[in-house]
Order: sequence, then structure tokens, then C-alpha cells
Amino acid sequence: MAKNRQKPAPECSSVERQCAIYTRQSRQHTSVLSSCEIQQSICTDFAQESDWQIADRKFADAGESSETLERPALQQLLKEIDAGQIDRVVVYSVDRLTRKLFDLHRLLEVFERHDVQLHVVTDPRFGKSAEGRLMMNIVAAASEFQQDLTRERMADARVALKQQGRRVAGCVPYGYVVDGKSKQLIIDRQAARRVRKMFELAAAGRLPTEIAEIVNQRRWRTRRDGGGGLWTPRQILKLLSNPTYAGMIRNGIRTLPGLHEAVVDPGLFQSVREAIESRRPSKRRRKATSFASPLRGLLKCGRCKRVMIPKISQHGNIRYRYYRCRSTAGGKPPCRHVGVSAYEIERFVRSMICSISAESSTEEDGGDHLFFAIWNQLDDWSQLKRIPLIVREAVFDPDAGTIEVILLDDATERLTSSCNETPLD
Ligand SMILES: [Zn+2]
Repeated sequence: MAKNRQKPAPECSSVERQCAIYTRQSRQHTSVLSSCEIQQSICTDFAQESDWQIADRKFADAGESSETLERPALQQLLKEIDAGQIDRVVVYSVDRLTRKLFDLHRLLEVFERHDVQLHVVTDPRFGKSAEGRLMMNIVAAASEFQQDLTRERMADARVALKQQGRRVAGCVPYGYVVDGKSKQLIIDRQAARRVRKMFELAAAGRLPTEIAEIVNQRRWRTRRDGGGGLWTPRQILKLLSNPTYAGMIRNGIRTLPGLHEAVVDPGLFQSVREAIESRRPSKRRRKATSFASPLRGLLKCGRCKRVMIPKISQHGNIRYRYYRCRSTAGGKPPCRHVGVSAYEIERFVRSMICSISAESSTEEDGGDHLFFAIWNQLDDWSQLKRIPLIVREAVFDPDAGTIEVILLDDATERLTSSCNETPLD
């Protein structure tokens, strides 16, 4: 028996929910009239008049302040509400629950969520009368205002911290660790040496691809504890562009001197920066992308009807191709999060072309018959290459996940001649 010291859970086998009476007496006012016992008996009378089934547990916070909701009996009450055991709460007056509008709003939200009715003895029309509803609205507005204030205060604090050069939050760049107490960046000697080496390589004219190769050969990993993966050229480029290493912090679009120690001196950082800028890939890269992206200029975003732009990103040794809505034509920003894997969509377009030609070949049209025959002879790669020749446009609907493909009128001739005359392979 001594082992089992846990209190048995309150009986709740009956499905019927009960009426809870909550009482509170603050430390300051110790008058007998405001005691929990008096409140309890008044509330009990009130509940009995309405024939509510009163829970035999008492929710009494004696000597607890209204400053906080962290009161034992109130927390117990909320727990039981959460467990679906309570359908009504009776209090002598609203200030027994709380004197803070914000907290009241939170409690009322919990009650509403669990379909619990609040009854106030001194104000039976609480929440029902016109004044009651107005009161509720004021409570809601006040609590929103309070939250806004908190948010603003936090934003202000962030700006102020950054202006002092302090780190606020975010990823910890490779080469640094965060000090447990101050939450500021401190140098991780070994990783920082590696960062410096990468900058030196870049300053000596090495490209991010070459640097990635070099550091991967040395078995440096993206995390200093040996975790993380191989370095990619993109990660190297990102690292070389991070002003943190020159002792700066980013604040919006500006950079400010930070409080943390620099890993490389600002002169080295600047020269690497300039080298990167001067090499910014332009035409060369675009050409490479266009060769590999047969739907370039043909694929449209179904949401805004603008052309989707092919992109390549590299993760490790794998290159991902995709098409994204990135157009700013018409002065409108591109659609957010509209993107699709190039491989998927191109495969889809190829199979659409098959089904278009299959459908139309049932009609008495020798041309389409021919198209179907030729198209199905081609292997995947040859089909892919001929997409720009025969497709007028393809519209990707990001919401439905569907695609509509329209072929050029003379698709059959174009396809025939591409196979007969100009070998594309
Ligand atoms: Zn779009």
C-alpha cells in the first residue's frame, strides 16, 4: 500500500460532464467574507438552483494572487477541462478567475474551445448581455493589443541588439560556436583555420568548385564534429560571401560591425568578394541551362500565366533541375512557392504528348497517325530533345497539380523532318 502513493484519478467513468466551482482568495484580503468557503457556499447555492451536477472536488486557491494563472487549483481545473470532464464553471465574480484582461481572454478561449460555460454569480448575464458582449470584445482587442506590443518590443529589442553588434538568433556559421551564456559567437579554432584556408584559396583564384574538391579531399566536413556532408560549391560560395567572417553582422540589407571576432581580415574578405562578383555567371550558365531544359520558354505558371524559369541546384554530386515561377513581368512579383521538378514535369509532358497523339489518331487523320508512330519509336532522351520543336505551350497548374499541353499545328511535319533530315542526337 505504501508503494502506491499516487492519488487515484478522479472518477470520471460517467460520460456526463460536471459543473466545477472555482474559488480564490488573495493574500492581501483576508476578510472572512471573501474566503474561499463563503464563495464556495454561494456558488453551490447558485448551481443547485439550476440543478447542475456539481463536482465533489473543490477548486480553491487560498492565498493565491490573480497576477498569474499558475495557481494549483486553477491549473487542476484546466486539466480537467482539457480532459473533457467539466461543462460549466461557476465563480463568484470574474476577478476570482483573474484581474488581467489578457489572462481572462486566454481562459475564455480555453472554455470556448472545450465548450465550457462560465457562470458568474454577481453577473449572471456575463457574456450574454450587450454590455457583456462589448466587454468580451474589449477583452479580445486588449489582448491582441498586448500581443502586438510584445511583438513590437521584441522587434525593437532585436534591432537594438543588432545595432550594438550583437548576434540575436539564427544559424551559427561554420567556424564559430555559440557561447552558452552570452549567446554570442565565439571562434572555433580548428574550423576557423579551415575557413581561413578557403578564403586564401579563393583569393588565389580558385573557384568554389575547386575549393570544394580540395576540402573534400582533405575530409573536411560541413560540420566540425565530423558530422554533416561533403562541401558543395554552393556552400563554399555562401561561406565566402558571409560577412560574419570579416567581423560584421547583417541587419536587414545593411552590414554592421559585430561584437564577435573576425576569422579573416576585412581586406582578404573584400578581395574574395570582388573576385566572386567579377565572375558572376551570366550568359555561359544560361546557355548551359537552356540546353538541358527543353521546356524553357514553353512552360507557363497556371496561376499568373507567366513563363516559368528553369533552375539548377546542386546538392553534393546530384544536380536538381526544376522550373519555378520567378518572372517579374508586368511588374508583379512571382508566385510564391510555385516550382516543379524538371524531371517530373518533362516526363509528364512526354506522356501527355503520347496520349494526345493516341487520342487524335483514332480520328481519320493520317497525319496524327504518323505522329503517333514516330513519337513512340523515340527513346526518352530523343523525345525530350524534340519537345521544343513540337510543343506550343504547356501550362502547369500548381494548385491542381495538373498540366495542359498544346502542340504546334504542324507538329507532325516538324517531328518527321527532325527525324529524317537533321539528326539531333
Ligand atoms: Zn506564377
